[in-house]
Amino acid sequence: MSDAVLNPAQQALLEQIRTPAGAPRFFKPGFVAELRSDMEAQLAPLATALTEIDADGVAASRDQLFLSKSLIERVLGCESKFLADDAIPFEWSIPIAKGTLAHRAIELIATSERVRPPLELIDEAMARMQAEGTGLGGWLALASAETLAEIRGATNNLVLSFCETWPPLKRRWMPAVEFPLRAEFCGGTIVCGGKPDITLGTAHGHEARKVIVDLKTGARRAEHRLDLRFYALLDTFRVGTPPRLLVSYYLDQGQLESELVTEALLEATVDRVVDAAHRVVDLRRERRAPSTAPGTHCRWCPLNASCPDAADLSRSDSD
Ligand code: SF4
Repeated sequence: MSDAVLNPAQQALLEQIRTPAGAPRFFKPGFVAELRSDMEAQLAPLATALTEIDADGVAASRDQLFLSKSLIERVLGCESKFLADDAIPFEWSIPIAKGTLAHRAIELIATSERVRPPLELIDEAMARMQAEGTGLGGWLALASAETLAEIRGATNNLVLSFCETWPPLKRRWMPAVEFPLRAEFCGGTIVCGGKPDITLGTAHGHEARKVIVDLKTGARRAEHRLDLRFYALLDTFRVGTPPRLLVSYYLDQGQLESELVTEALLEATVDRVVDAAHRVVDLRRERRAPSTAPGTHCRWCPLNASCPDAADLSRSDSD
């Protein structure tokens, strides 16, 4: 499909994410190596704390700390809620399932030779996941026909919105869906990982060109931008050249929020991740008592009924 047949929403999105001609972005030489070494140095005390030393002074065992975007957001939110949530086992639900299934269907859009109706993509994604039998696939395989129909309908809305408002993903843009990013520190004791929803383009030598996109539903939140910055940091360490642009795309509004990647943005992200890592280790090892931080997240907190600091959300209709 050529740009000429794009609808206004698709055309506007394309204009906002494409690399402007004559405005290449470069980072100062040595910046990425310095950034990595700064992060390693700040995490080093934690690697020591995670290592058990035996009576002979030899490292006998080492715990691994894995940091994801959601773990970082949770521990930097309310520490008491973070620990309470830790104790609750994960369970699939329709709202979580529809997002995961939509990503799988969009992956089929990115790799498909032809334009296909969303429901066809969703059914194929669902069948593939059920055949795999793990994670969501295992849950879907046991779900009732009514639940499957509800998930199919909710997912269709997301995938249809993507098809309506995104230009077709051309192969020359090198689209990737849920590309796994991973960065290891301190000899693998501390690992950061995540999968951005979509990446477009790649660095051209030292010129930043990649666009990282997260697809969102519902209200805009500041954390969405922070999630993308985390991905940008991981991709910077992986490739050696940072991405160019970070995009939160709100499917039900057909709107995006974007920001250019800068050196200051990446440095601030290192500080945020290091802060989160220290908090996780301190709290899980009971080195100090957790603090509380009231907010809209009190609504979903398992401690809400007993917490003296719980926010009064009775008159709030936010989120
Ligand atoms: S109710 Fe609110 S302040 Fe209290 S622990 Fe939960 S999230 Fe934190």
